[in-house]
Amino acid sequence: MEELTKFKTDLERAKTELNILYEISNAMRTTLKLEEILYIILTGVTAHTGLGFNRAILFLINETEGIIEGKMAIGPESGEEANVIWKQIKQEKMDLDDLISVYKTSSSATDSRLNQQIRNLKTPLREQQGGLLALSVLEGMPLHLTPETIVNYSDDQIINILRNDELVLVPLKAKDKVNGIIIADNFVTRKPITKDDIRMLIMLSNQAGLAIENSQLFEKTVIRAHTDSLTEIWNHGYFQFLLHSEIEKTKATTSPLSLIMIDIDDFKVYNDTLGHQDGDAILRQLAQLLKNQSRKMDHVCRYGGEEFAVILPRTDKKEAFMIAERLRQNVEKHRFIHEEILPHKKFTVSLGLATYPENGANAAELIHYCDKMLYQAKDKGKNLTCG
Ligand code: GH3
Ligand code: MG
Ligand code: MG
Repeated sequence: MEELTKFKTDLERAKTELNILYEISNAMRTTLKLEEILYIILTGVTAHTGLGFNRAILFLINETEGIIEGKMAIGPESGEEANVIWKQIKQEKMDLDDLISVYKTSSSATDSRLNQQIRNLKTPLREQQGGLLALSVLEGMPLHLTPETIVNYSDDQIINILRNDELVLVPLKAKDKVNGIIIADNFVTRKPITKDDIRMLIMLSNQAGLAIENSQLFEKTVIRAHTDSLTEIWNHGYFQFLLHSEIEKTKATTSPLSLIMIDIDDFKVYNDTLGHQDGDAILRQLAQLLKNQSRKMDHVCRYGGEEFAVILPRTDKKEAFMIAERLRQNVEKHRFIHEEILPHKKFTVSLGLATYPENGANAAELIHYCDKMLYQAKDKGKNLTCG
C-alpha cells in the first residue's frame, strides 16, 4: 500500500515536471529573437509555475573572442523586493505566459543592478583565469556548490557578485557543444537545492541550448541577407527599410532625422587606370572608414556602385553638416592605395545632405533632395558637402 502511494506521488511529480518543461519549450518556440529567448529561459527557471528558483543568470560563449559573456539575470535583489513581486504574481495569478509578456511591455524585469553587473561581465574561457564559469564550460558538467564546497571558490568573481553559499551551474549544449551556462540559486528563501531541482534544470538547459543556437543562426542569416558582400555594410534594400522605419520613429517623437549621400570623386579614372579589383579594394576601405567614423546610432549603407548613404537618427541639419564635413575631411586625410593617380593626387568624396521633415515629407523625397545636393557639390568642384 505504501509502495502504491509512493508510486502515485512519483507519477504526479513526473506529470507536473513534464508539463512545466512542455510549457517552457512551447514558449521558446514563439520567437527567434535571442533576447526574448533568454528571457523566456530565465523566467522558466525562476517562475513559481516553472522551476521555482529565486534567481537565474545566463552566460553565452563567444567563441571568436574566446570569452564567456554575461547576458541576463533575473530575480529579486532583496527579501523585501521578492515579497512585493511574488505577492503580485500570486494575487494576479500570473502564469508563465503572463510573466513572459511583462518583458515585451516593460523593461522593469531586466533593469536590476544584478542584471547590469552581469551584462558587463566578460571572463576568458581558460581554466586558469576564467574561474568557476570557465571550469563549468570546459568540464561540460553541472556543478552544485554547497555551503561546504563553495568555500574553495571564495575569491571567484561570480561568487562575489552573487553573495550566496549555495548555487548550481549548468552548461547549455547544442549538438554536444557547450554554448552557455545557467546559474540558479535560492538567494531569498535559502531553500536547499535538491537533486530533483538540478535534474529539471538540466532538462531545461538541453532545450535552452538548442533554442539559443537556432536563434543565433537565424540572426546571423538575417544579418547576412541585409549585408553587402563586398563592403560588409548594409545593402540597398536594407537602407530603404532603415530609412523608412527611422522616419516612422521620427514622426512619433517629432525629432529630426538627416541623411548623407556620398559619392567618390573621379572614381572612373581610378578604375580605368588600375582595374576593378583595386577599385573594389578601395570601396571596402572607404566603407570601413565611414563605419569607424560614424556614431553607434547611425546606419552606414552602400547605396549603389560607388555611392554610400548614412542615416543619422535624431540629428538636425546643423549637426549633420558637421558630421558630413568631418567624414569628408577624414577621407581626404586618409591614405588610400594608389591615390596619386587621381586628378588631384588625392582620394576624395562629395557629399549631399537632407533633413527630415524640412527637405522632404517621406523617404523618396528625402533621397531626391539629397541627390540634388550631391550633384551641387560635384558642380561646385567636388570634395565638398552641400545641404
Ligand atoms: P564623379 O566625380 O562625377 O563622381 O566621377 P566618377 O568617375 O566617380 O563617376 P561616377 O560617380 O558616375 O562613378 C561611376 C564609376 O564607378 C563607374 C565604375 O567604374 C565605378 N564603379 C561603380 N560601382 C563599382 C564597383 O562595385 N566596383 C568598382 N571597382 N567600381 C565601381
Ligand atoms: Mg556615382
Ligand atoms: Mg563618383
